[in-house]
Amino acid sequence: MASSAASRNGAPRGGGGARSLAGGNLRSSSYKSRPSQLPGSTLRRSSTGSFAAAGDDGVPGRVRVAVRLRPRNAEEMVADADFADCVEVQPELKRLKLRKNNWDSDTYEFDEVLTEFASQKRVYEVVAKPVVESVLDGYNGTVMAYGQTGTGKTFTVGHLGDGDTASRGIMVRAMEDILADVAPETDSVSVSYLQLYMEAIQDLLDPTNDNISIVEDPKTGDVSLPGATLLEIRDQQSFVELLSIGEAHRIAANTKLNTESSRSHAILMSKLVLVDLAGSERVHKSGSEGHMLEEAKSINLSLSALGKCINALAENCAHVPVRDSKLTRLLKDSFGGTARTSLIVTIGPSPRHRGETASTIQFGQRAMKVENMLKIKEEFDYKSLSRKLEIQVDKLIAENERQQKAYEYELERMNQEAQNRIAEVERNFAEALEKERLKCQMEYMESVKKLEEKMLTNQRKHGSDGIIRNECNGEDQVVSVSDEVAEVRKLLQNETQRRKASEEEVNKLNTRMGQLMQSEAGGDGEILRIHQLLEVETQKKKKLEEEVMILKSQLLQLSYEADQSRRYMERVGSGNGLNGTDSPSVNNGEKAPVGTLFEQVGLHQILSYLESEDANVQIHAVKVLANLAAEEANQEKIVEAGGLTSLLMLLRKFEDETVRRVAAGAIANLAMNETNQELIMTQGGITLLTMTAADAEDPQTLRMVAGAIANLCGNDKLQMKLKSEGGIKALLGMVRCGHADVLSQVARGIANFAKCESRAATQGTKNGRSLLIDDGALPWIVQNANNEAAPIRRHIELALCHLAQHEVNAKEMISGGALWELVRISHDCSREDIRSLARRTLNSSPTFRSEMRRLRID
Ligand code: ADP
Ligand code: MG
Repeated sequence: MASSAASRNGAPRGGGGARSLAGGNLRSSSYKSRPSQLPGSTLRRSSTGSFAAAGDDGVPGRVRVAVRLRPRNAEEMVADADFADCVEVQPELKRLKLRKNNWDSDTYEFDEVLTEFASQKRVYEVVAKPVVESVLDGYNGTVMAYGQTGTGKTFTVGHLGDGDTASRGIMVRAMEDILADVAPETDSVSVSYLQLYMEAIQDLLDPTNDNISIVEDPKTGDVSLPGATLLEIRDQQSFVELLSIGEAHRIAANTKLNTESSRSHAILMSKLVLVDLAGSERVHKSGSEGHMLEEAKSINLSLSALGKCINALAENCAHVPVRDSKLTRLLKDSFGGTARTSLIVTIGPSPRHRGETASTIQFGQRAMKVENMLKIKEEFDYKSLSRKLEIQVDKLIAENERQQKAYEYELERMNQEAQNRIAEVERNFAEALEKERLKCQMEYMESVKKLEEKMLTNQRKHGSDGIIRNECNGEDQVVSVSDEVAEVRKLLQNETQRRKASEEEVNKLNTRMGQLMQSEAGGDGEILRIHQLLEVETQKKKKLEEEVMILKSQLLQLSYEADQSRRYMERVGSGNGLNGTDSPSVNNGEKAPVGTLFEQVGLHQILSYLESEDANVQIHAVKVLANLAAEEANQEKIVEAGGLTSLLMLLRKFEDETVRRVAAGAIANLAMNETNQELIMTQGGITLLTMTAADAEDPQTLRMVAGAIANLCGNDKLQMKLKSEGGIKALLGMVRCGHADVLSQVARGIANFAKCESRAATQGTKNGRSLLIDDGALPWIVQNANNEAAPIRRHIELALCHLAQHEVNAKEMISGGALWELVRISHDCSREDIRSLARRTLNSSPTFRSEMRRLRID
């Protein structure tokens, strides 16, 4: 007997695990069973009769049996020419009729009945393909051909089909399907090719290895042949070559029946065991002699043992004589074990071999009763697992290398970008600072020069005392021009120091950048440092910008002050020592350096600094804005840009007294314009002003607030609103501070208000009593009508005249003591126009006239 065996290692398809080979066992922890492609058997047998030790869970799977009829060969065409075939096939009914004689026949049913015309492809698909698929799913599988010599077992199982692809047998086709399914990276397919000849297992891939022993795993009962050559198959070509080599080694013995028929059992063994048995004919029929007889006996030993085992299994016997032959030991798993098994029984048509055909059919019928319990074996194949892991590791190493390269590249790019940005920032700072420095220097030099010139001229004109009297802000202030110059110099020094500090900052940045460039780039830390550095840079840039803003506002302040001094000296020079107005508004003359700054910095930028987090920046910004607001030409632009709103907010939000004072001053300046006055009212400015009036203590702040309200008081349209929103009361409340500057503004407000009221009364648009009297202003008016400060006195005198012009006020004025003051004004006022106004007013009022008569005042 000869046998060939092949084995395939790998995980079941879809299972995704490592595929193992050598032991013929598969491992799969994640295995999902495919539905059985074979009909479930109704024949259930106990496990006691199994070839293998059953008992574990498994899927019942009966041995499937197909019968294949060979066409008449040339010899039969001649010899049996006058006889009918002994069999008749009914494939559609899956039946086969075996003629007993001319009038009687036995009928058998099989799982498949294949006619003499059945193609090799169809035979493979019906008989072997379900087993191959089952193997790919992780089960063991067996396909075995049984039949009389010459009926086509080898043709069915082992035909290579060299000349004709269509005639290829099961082995070649099965390998094709297996190779198409496995992944070459993780699976391997190995093949052994063995022959069982006279109870010795020979290695057809190594003929010197001629007595391979069968090893049984004591635990699982699995049968293996560790001594057999196991060759790995990469492609179909290498498999066909391997089969050809094996074929060449096969021992073929001539028999009478078929000279080509092999006398050995050929087994392609693995998970998938493909068995080409020796002929099942009886010894006497083969006509063997001598050695041939011994051979035939040995062949029959294996075959009869197989038959006995099949019988025992079919009849559910307690004892199955597996150990009687090597064939039954090798096929232990195929019958009554855990493998999916298909048996194809081949028969010839000749009536001369009817007996053999009948016994072959009987064998097939019994085999149909054998039930296996299909089971997946779980065992690790460390070799293939390790190979799979190695492949994975290699893939990861390659990927890692790729990522590492990309990372380095990205790092390099980011580093470069950061360096470029630092360089750019540094360049910009240096340029801006240098420009600013030059400009400031020049402007200062010019201012100082001008001041010195003026001082010289002044000294020449007014002798050598160098002392001048300055009343422009309503304060008595003695200023030495040389002191002023010294102050300007000091400020210049401060400014220079600040600039130096900024330059040092830039130098520091330079050094840091140098260090950064020197240090090797690499790693996350470096990127992080660069990011942090950039963050610091941005902060510094912001700081520097604010610094520049402060410098600019200081420059502005200085320019402004220089400008003021220049004007004052001009006035002194031209003999006009008094400011024509005591309104807090300032600098409504020609375009000062302030305006230039306005254009340079941009109004929106200045307004944005009002919201800076740095109080210092805020203070400077509000100062700049206040100075800008002092110029009529800027006022409209400031209001348009929202400056008024910002100032109003600042008034309440800011706790710093300087800011409040400056903001109030700016508002006061803006409040000179009629349109702005209305805007201040609609934006709730009066409420903010009255609140400030109530809680501010600084006289200068109060002066600015009072000035702003006083301006509003001069607007005819706002009278009612001012009163109803507490404007008059706020004005009167501020007299608490007692400072002449504040009182002067209060008096001016009252005069403005009274003037509007008397105008309205004359036009007939106002009938009722004065709102000033309603809000209790009269006592303070009377009290201060003869104030020693001329500005206060003059405003109140005017206010009294205006109030007296409206008859409805006369009664209250009389009872409040205002009449005496009016009489005094009409006699004593230093200003002629006011004196006569008072006289006219008193004379035109019937109430005043009768009271004067009563009091005998003429
Ligand atoms: P066995 O292996 O059963 O002894 P073989 O497979 O060697 O028989 O077949 C004997 C002869 O019959 C061979 O020449 C083979 O080509 C031919 N033969 C077998 N089966 C068929 C078939 N179904 N169609 C055509 N020729 C066949
Ligand atoms: Mg054969």
